[in-house]
This record gives sequence, structure tokens and C-alpha cells, in this order.
Amino acid sequence: MADGALVLFSGGQDSTTCLAWALSRFDHVETIGFRYGQRHEIELECRLPILRALAEVSPIWAGRLGKDHLIDLDVLGQVSVSALTADLPFGKRADGLPATFVPGRNLVFLTFAAIVAHQRGLARVVSGVCETDFSGYPDCRDNTVKALQVAVNLGMEARLVLETPLMWIDKAETWSLAEKLGGGALVDLIVERTHTCYVGDRTVRHEWGFGCGKCDACRLRENGWARYRKAKAAVAQDR
Ligand code: ZN
Repeated sequence: MADGALVLFSGGQDSTTCLAWALSRFDHVETIGFRYGQRHEIELECRLPILRALAEVSPIWAGRLGKDHLIDLDVLGQVSVSALTADLPFGKRADGLPATFVPGRNLVFLTFAAIVAHQRGLARVVSGVCETDFSGYPDCRDNTVKALQVAVNLGMEARLVLETPLMWIDKAETWSLAEKLGGGALVDLIVERTHTCYVGDRTVRHEWGFGCGKCDACRLRENGWARYRKAKAAVAQDR
């Protein structure tokens, strides 16, 4: 399928925005998620309700949304120890990387996504990795993704494109992108239904969505939301 895409869809803000981006561009869009021994499965539980809600945002999107693939990669959580897969404290590791870094995770995810896309005849793999104001994961960097694209294409005799629409934008711009793609309906959907918080807390609803409000993921999301709202207010005032 020349105009098909497979989106790495975790149920978080970034991957939901990427999914809307793909649905706005490509005729056929499938989704893939991974169970890898996460400490909580809240993100995964958010996935199907988000897919249903996205189809309601736009009838065009509803027609383009295809199969969802949920892949079991429990083995990753067994060999790759991090604060997301084991009961370890958050904070920094001895080498300066965040304790939430799951070594190899994006390499494995993108490789499995490439396998599925190749077999399904989908020309693109879309992921929400970003090195602009990220948590410091080395496998989110542009060079990592570009190197992997070369490797999977050589290794499978394929011509896949690994698309990263969020790579060079910050969290405030990710909210703006959602608004551009799906208006207020998509922004509301992302606030209400996506999950980003590392500790899996959905008891408190903030202006920017549910979360503990303290972990790195919540802070990034909150900070991006605040800057997005501020920029929007400034534009409204200029009019
Ligand atoms: Zn949190």
C-alpha cells in the first residue's frame, strides 16, 4: 500500500498526535502498541477508547483507520531493567541517563514495527520520538532513527520511511499541532483520554489532563500545555 502508514501508538499524548498527523495525510493507517512488562498498563488501556474517539473527530479519519496490532514483548522488560519496568526509584542513573530509560526500547519497537509494516505492505512507520525537549533518551534522537531506517531497509530489502513528525518541535508546539490537525475536538480528546504519567496516576484531572503532576513526563506535559495556552492567549490579544 503505497500510501499506507503504521503508527507506533502507545496511548500517550505524542503518539496520539502522530496518529492524527498520519490520518490527515495517508489513505490507510494501522496502529501498533507493545506490552513490554510496564509497571502499569494504563497507557495500553487508553488505546482502544482513543481509537474510537478519533474516528468520531472526523469521518475521513474513521475511513482511514485500519487494523490495530498489540504485540507482546514481555521479554524486553525481563532483560532491560528500568524504573518503568521494575520497582526502582525515579531520578538519574550513574551515567546521567534518566532511570526511566528502557535500554533498547525504541530500537526494538521500531524494528518490530518495521517488520509488521513491511509484511502489511505499509510504506511508512510513524513514531512520536522527539529530541527537542525530551527526557534525554538517546534512542529518541534523529540520528538513531535515521541509522535504524538504513539498517531495517538493508536487512529486509525494503524501502520503508521512518517518519518522526515531532522530532524538531517542542511540547507546546505538539499541542498546537494537535489543534491544527483536529481543532478543539482533538485537543480535548488528548487532554481527557491520553495518558503520559510515568507512575500511572489517573486520580487527579489537571487542566492538561490526568497524572501525578510530579514525574518528568507530567512536568513536560504540564509545561508544554502552559506555553501553548500562553501563546494562544497572546494571538487572541493581537487580534
Ligand atoms: Zn506523573
